[in-house]
Amino acid sequence: MEKILVVEDEPDLLMGLQDNLEIEGYQVVTAKDGQAALDLAMSTCPDLMLLDIMLPKLNGFEVLRQLRQKGMDTPVIMLTAKSQEVDRVLGLELGADDYITKPFSIRELLARVKAVLRRRHSPPQQIDAYQFGDVKIDFRKSVATKGGQTIELSHYEAGILRLLITNKGEPIGRNRILDEVWGYELYPTTRTIDNHVVKLRQKLEADPHNPAHILTVHGMGYKFVD
Ligand code: CA
Repeated sequence: MEKILVVEDEPDLLMGLQDNLEIEGYQVVTAKDGQAALDLAMSTCPDLMLLDIMLPKLNGFEVLRQLRQKGMDTPVIMLTAKSQEVDRVLGLELGADDYITKPFSIRELLARVKAVLRRRHSPPQQIDAYQFGDVKIDFRKSVATKGGQTIELSHYEAGILRLLITNKGEPIGRNRILDEVWGYELYPTTRTIDNHVVKLRQKLEADPHNPAHILTVHGMGYKFVD
């Protein structure tokens, strides 16, 4: 049974989260302040943490920072009443796995819990090389050849392309690209992704303005087709 540590100082919300997670079959441990959260995270090693930001004693950011400093890589979904970009950015920089803004539906929360746990348990299979048309890509070296010419790919270009090809035919949202290619070391804007895709198309597509392989999925992200 997967164990979830829920950290929330609002009693009704805490109880509601606990009930719903238990109904879904999770074992639930709860904390009402940041210090208790940190102690429980260390002593119970949960599979996932739901972490409120505004908390007594230590706030959620501080809990997350100290947790990561101690080498705990427990997945964390931050809960917050604020929808400010700065909170989202800070949380992800500190190593949160996802972020949900209050008020949220329990259905949405459960979906994110499942997604984070699933990603945790089955990291996507990485491909090392791929060929389409006259393009060959060696992901280990971040190098492509096109019609015999060698083309260097940047770390992020190769990362985006690898993610899209690994999930060939499936639309991949910009947020997932940020999560999986940039991770939490940096958190660029989604515009950065678009710029990298433009460069990828210039390097690999026969007609970069009418791409045949690296396609835009309107309002969502990108997908790769052969
Ligand atoms: Ca709170």
